[in-house]
Amino acid sequence: MMSQGLVIMSYVIASILFILSLSGLSHPETARRGNYLGMAGMSIAILATLFSDAVDSYVVLIIALAIGGFIGTKAALKVEMTQMPELVALMHSLVGMAAVLVGYANFMDSSNSLVGIEHTIHEVEIYIGVFIGAVTFSGSVIAFGKLCGKIDGKPVLLPGRHWLNLSLFVATFWLAGVFLDGVATGGGTFALILMTLLALTFGVHMVMAIGGADMPVVVSMLNSYSGWAAAATGFMLNNDLLIVTGALVGSSGAILSYIMCKAMNRHFLSVIAGGFGSASGEAATVEGDVAPIENDETVQIINAANNIVIIPGYGMAVAQAQHTVNEITKLLRAKGKNVRFGIHPVAGRMPGHMNVLLAEAKVPYDIVFEMDEINPDFPQTDVTIVIGANDIVNPSALDDPNSPIAGMPVLECWKSTTTIVLKRSMATGYAGVGNPLFIHENTRMLFGDANESMQAVLKSLNA
Ligand code: NDP
Repeated sequence: MMSQGLVIMSYVIASILFILSLSGLSHPETARRGNYLGMAGMSIAILATLFSDAVDSYVVLIIALAIGGFIGTKAALKVEMTQMPELVALMHSLVGMAAVLVGYANFMDSSNSLVGIEHTIHEVEIYIGVFIGAVTFSGSVIAFGKLCGKIDGKPVLLPGRHWLNLSLFVATFWLAGVFLDGVATGGGTFALILMTLLALTFGVHMVMAIGGADMPVVVSMLNSYSGWAAAATGFMLNNDLLIVTGALVGSSGAILSYIMCKAMNRHFLSVIAGGFGSASGEAATVEGDVAPIENDETVQIINAANNIVIIPGYGMAVAQAQHTVNEITKLLRAKGKNVRFGIHPVAGRMPGHMNVLLAEAKVPYDIVFEMDEINPDFPQTDVTIVIGANDIVNPSALDDPNSPIAGMPVLECWKSTTTIVLKRSMATGYAGVGNPLFIHENTRMLFGDANESMQAVLKSLNA
């Protein structure tokens, strides 16, 4: 057993490591270090908890750790890079479920000796913890379903949905009073269960109402909620480290949500209220001639170009084309061409998705640019190569006010001399919107799996 002083000291060290980890994670070059610091912090936190006097049955603990560790390791080994976003959503749901379970366990714990105002505060912590936990749990399960395509990405807009949300909120507040009155006389169970059901409904309804293109905000928002759920658990268990860690995750998730909202040009509240941009008229349909090209012509265009911008999207992750793309980049740069990458903040299926893939393939960071940095350069760009991206290069976001993605800033690649789009078909992207870029006069479509197409291009460039 560790002394209480040693446990507190370990918690402080772990908290510092978590903060350093977050600062490391803010840049690709230091992200690896950030991860290691986070792992070190978590190991210290787990060890300190294991050896603290809060543990009274090692048998149960070891069995639980073994089962959890086994499932976690199996899932992590099996998951494909493209399934990462769903896995993250699923993990968030577990944090939510933990908060609910800890809340109920605390509620039923008869050994609790708190009295008076301290007792009331503890019960309020339980109520809030269970509420946030339940919303996080059900919301994350729906987000998981939407991200892996098990649930349709289209927003489900119930009539009077704002009223439904409002009534759920009012009922939750009212039930809080009923719960506290009940607790004072040894009851409160029914109110707690009823509130849990309402919170679960709220989580489902909130995420179901959010359309495909707004999902990035949902992912980061649930990330933030899971942090607050952990912090609430910390309050219930009187564990300072859990409060600090939860607050770190909660606030960094909130900042990420803000960044995502800015990237999509959305107001946070209108995203959570749901169905943003879908209430107006019909989006214009895309009709016109497509100009497909083959490998040879692609290579000719690339060889003739000096300024090249590459825009990766979700399809690059699916095709796992990042390594081939990096080989082509190296080759073209060796030939003296100016090759740069343009990254849209919501490209792929999770924040930073493309940066992770490019870093994995060892593309140098100094040629990877954000949307705002590269957008002014498209008129001087000879060729833009769009690799499995769709929504993030859709001009209708700018010129069709009825488009579900209207108002979202996009990479304006159609301003370059030629745009080559690599994808397998004319299918729409995640938001389900037709894309006029594909019929633009400067656009050529290179159909096929992005990795196969890129490999053929690499072979011809090398020849
Ligand atoms: P999109 O989903 O809009 O488009 C991806 C395109 O890739 C598809 O049109 C598909 O066309 C193509 N593709 C798929 N597999 C392959 C393959 N093997 N080879 C070649 N092409 C392929 O992706 P974007 O990155 O452009 O946009 C991201 C979208 O996801 C946005 O709507 C964003 O809001 C949303 N989103 C983003 C999240 C985030 O945090 N970044 C989270 C959740 C959603 P085809 O089938 O014809 O090949």
